[in-house]
Amino acid sequence: MPELPEVETARCLIADQALHRLIVDKDADRLYRALKAAVDSATAKGGVHTGDVIAARHPGGTCPRCGAEMRHGTVGGRSTWWCSREQVRGG
Ligand SMILES: [Zn+2]
Repeated sequence: MPELPEVETARCLIADQALHRLIVDKDADRLYRALKAAVDSATAKGGVHTGDVIAARHPGGTCPRCGAEMRHGTVGGRSTWWCSREQVRGG
């Protein structure tokens, strides 16, 4: 059964919020905690569009934590945004 577009959008927004919290890490426990924190925050605030990085997801947007430019791209077939300073590719 195909998913509703809203469900896919919600997953993308939660993933961006979780990855913004995570910065760079390969540890599954930290990834789980970052995802849980993003879901808990969205639930407490009333929805996935309430995350602090969501408003920065546009051309010219800046990271709500450090003020660096937000970058946009496609990863794994989905559109995503990330902080150009804090979310850099690891080795
Ligand atoms: Zn940043």
